[in-house]
Amino acid sequence: MKKALVIGGGVAGCAAAHHLTMMGGWDVLLVEAAPFLGAGVRTNWFGGHPYTFGPRHFLTQNRAVYDYMDAIVPLRSCADHQFITYVERDNAFYNYPIHEDDIAKMPDRDKIAEERKNAVGVENAKDLEAYWIGSVGQTLFDKFIDGYNKKMWLVDDCKKIDTFNWSPKGVTIKSGPRAAWDTAMSAYPYAEDGYNKYFDYAVQGVKVLLNTKIERYDIPNRTVWLKGEKMTFDVIVNAISPDEIFDKCHGELKYIGRDFHKIVFPTEHVFPEHVYFLYYANDEQFTRLVEYKKMTHHKSPTTLIGMEIPSLNGRHYPLPFKKDIALASKYFEMMPDHVYSIGRNGSYRYGLDIDDCIEQAMIMARQIKEGGRDYPVPMEIWR
Ligand SMILES: Cc1cc2nc3c(=O)[nH]c(=O)nc-3n(C[C@H](O)[C@H](O)[C@H](O)COP(=O)(O)OP(=O)(O)OC[C@H]3O[C@@H](n4cnc5c(N)ncnc54)[C@H](O)[C@@H]3O)c2cc1C
Repeated sequence: MKKALVIGGGVAGCAAAHHLTMMGGWDVLLVEAAPFLGAGVRTNWFGGHPYTFGPRHFLTQNRAVYDYMDAIVPLRSCADHQFITYVERDNAFYNYPIHEDDIAKMPDRDKIAEERKNAVGVENAKDLEAYWIGSVGQTLFDKFIDGYNKKMWLVDDCKKIDTFNWSPKGVTIKSGPRAAWDTAMSAYPYAEDGYNKYFDYAVQGVKVLLNTKIERYDIPNRTVWLKGEKMTFDVIVNAISPDEIFDKCHGELKYIGRDFHKIVFPTEHVFPEHVYFLYYANDEQFTRLVEYKKMTHHKSPTTLIGMEIPSLNGRHYPLPFKKDIALASKYFEMMPDHVYSIGRNGSYRYGLDIDDCIEQAMIMARQIKEGGRDYPVPMEIWR
């Protein structure tokens, strides 16, 4: 048997462990610092309502990824899901992505039309602000993007956000159906406990150590010290921030965290029908509200809303700034053959979602079978 170590038991680590055991011939050890698997994707309960840390709905364009999750925790389609943004200066809720039908109703629609006609395009955009203004014009940028991204990334100016491949929505304005990402499959588990069974299923046959951290890493030699014991592996899959496994030798990678609040309302529903998320693009402290019932279909005379406030608590969002991505690359360059780094933090890539973590695990398994490597494991459908 070959030996594999998986570091971190979020979606990426669990999917990696599962794909290694499915290949056969692998003895897999997964080490997770928390007392449970799944991290923020794990369902908990408040007032009887199931909820996760933030929305965590399943959105993918990859049929194999969808079928994989659906076979383990059957998925209910959320194809109707709409997101809306509150724009205070118009005192209106508008579709997000920005929708042609809403623009037609905006008080400044003529100005917007003029700005869109004169928009210079995104080819030479150097930052998020130039990207969006070049795409949709100043007024729509001000209404939907500027305030939201400043608070999301804790910056005072969107010019400081100098990557935007994670923000493709500005290139087009939506028309037709209002459902948010209607070119992707959108779903959520039927089960009351959401994805929880996935995590247990994925690690069948895997030795899982919860509440555990590796004491010392020697990644170039695929060796770690665990509970005082020196252990060497044929493959290591890193599914945590790469600075941690190199003792932060190039410095600490930065992340934006989240303060998360749960609020129960004394009414069966709060959001309009089909609306799953509300985005707030003004000077409110929070970025997003989620009504969990929309995804969970939980039956109750009350409803649970989750509120997210960007903060420095937790390592949830890798920064979309070139200098931070360059620092992460220094760590990726240090990874030898047979060490893979996957997942949102493991790839240091904002916009890498649940489906992408699974796709990376699938690609990793293929690379192990066929040879070859790349860091982070490349996405075939990187959007
Ligand atoms: C608020 C929020 C909402 C989101 N909503 C959605 C959504 O609606 N749809 C979607 O597809 N995606 C969503 N995402 C993104 C998606 O959930 C993540 O990309 C995905 O869950 C990341 O999984 P991961 O395994 O890479 O990392 P994580 O989930 O961060 O898991 C890493 C694991 O490693 C453990 N760990 C950390 N350090 C150590 C250590 N030193 N030793 C051992 N273990 C360690 C942690 O405890 C954790 O369990 C959301 C993300 C956030 C933050």
